[in-house]
Amino acid sequence: MKVFKFGGASVSTLERMRNAGAIIKSQPGKLLVVVSAMGKTTNALEKVINAFYKGEGSNALQLFEEIKQEHSLFAEALLQQPLTQLTDFYTEVEWLLHDKPVREYDYYYDQVVCVGELLSTLIVSHYLSGTGTANTWLDVRDYIRTDSNFRNAGIDWKTSAAKITGELAASFQQAEVIVTQGFIGATDENESTTLGREGSDYSAAVFASLLDAHSLTIWKDVQGVMSADPKQYSAAEWILELSYKEVIEMSYYGAQVIHPKTIKPLQNKDIPLFVRSFLQPAEEGTIIHTRNGIQIPPIIVYKKAQVLLELNCKDFSFVNEGLTVELYHLFDSIKFTPNLTQNGATSIICVVDDHPEKVAQLAHAASTLFEVQVRRNLLLLTIRHYNEGLLNELCKDRTIILKQQTPETVQVLLQE
Ligand code: ASP
Ligand code: MG
Repeated sequence: MKVFKFGGASVSTLERMRNAGAIIKSQPGKLLVVVSAMGKTTNALEKVINAFYKGEGSNALQLFEEIKQEHSLFAEALLQQPLTQLTDFYTEVEWLLHDKPVREYDYYYDQVVCVGELLSTLIVSHYLSGTGTANTWLDVRDYIRTDSNFRNAGIDWKTSAAKITGELAASFQQAEVIVTQGFIGATDENESTTLGREGSDYSAAVFASLLDAHSLTIWKDVQGVMSADPKQYSAAEWILELSYKEVIEMSYYGAQVIHPKTIKPLQNKDIPLFVRSFLQPAEEGTIIHTRNGIQIPPIIVYKKAQVLLELNCKDFSFVNEGLTVELYHLFDSIKFTPNLTQNGATSIICVVDDHPEKVAQLAHAASTLFEVQVRRNLLLLTIRHYNEGLLNELCKDRTIILKQQTPETVQVLLQE
């Protein structure tokens, strides 16, 4: 069996939905299809929950009404009849929005945001049935069991594995195709959870791994993985083949290839990952697998809106391990990850994304240990498999604020 993952962009219009249907139909053999929320639905649902949590209940309901309308009209246009089952999910959310928030934000976020995936998959499943592809729709919350770390839930592998290899695998006896949701799961108390934004890739990898799939294919609006973002570097090239390790490195440095958690479950079982274009399904795309020694061009990753935190020890004392550990505890406690760090004799330098609240929180907390200086509007350039010529070309006419390099990777912090 194989696993296909369709992201929000691949089901965002009637034409794209039909196209996804055709790709699924053309696939012989057993297939598990994981689908994201349509288009920008997750962002729209975030607005609903923000209004609700601010106590603007009627605004939240109004915003949700727009999402309902959009899905109902879309389904009706696609299926040529109303899809009444959508209402069950609408009602679940509306019930919640009529209450006042008494629990934490993240809990409500997950209860509401998960509906995007439930709606989109219901539509996909009905569309497939109506066009002759028998399939079983499953609520993934019955199979992916998680902890209650809302908005970034961790998978309970033991329970999920038992359910997926047992009940879910058995569903393949009724239909060749199973349609289910990415990104969401549930706790043992049946509360909905989400696995972190863009988490559907990860869900698809979890299924592929637990079901010992032949392969996982992620269908995107681009023809595979590129060596850089062509908007930032016009000589970007398509890459036909990559190792798991390279993809983990690329996502670590900020390339928006696939969700960073996706690779591990696949690598553990040696399951190849294909990244292909739903717009050009005849193209072969990129294959990601175990092989090492693959020839690849330099990989370029830009991270914009970077902040440099310069932490100078008070009264000229040395940076010792104790201080470094305390600093890392601070990062950990506010769930903030530095993109680059460098220790000197009396200072530590950290480069972080510009999340204003977290930067402020970190700078404030660190000020008990250090004199803190904050510098904004910086650009972090990473080149893997670099050469000096390319590095010079990309840094031309720019002020280099910091540079860090290994034989494989160079990172430079530039003025934006
Ligand atoms: N719908 C979710 C998001 O937009 C999950 C996903 O698309 O992977 O983040
Ligand atoms: Mg997506």
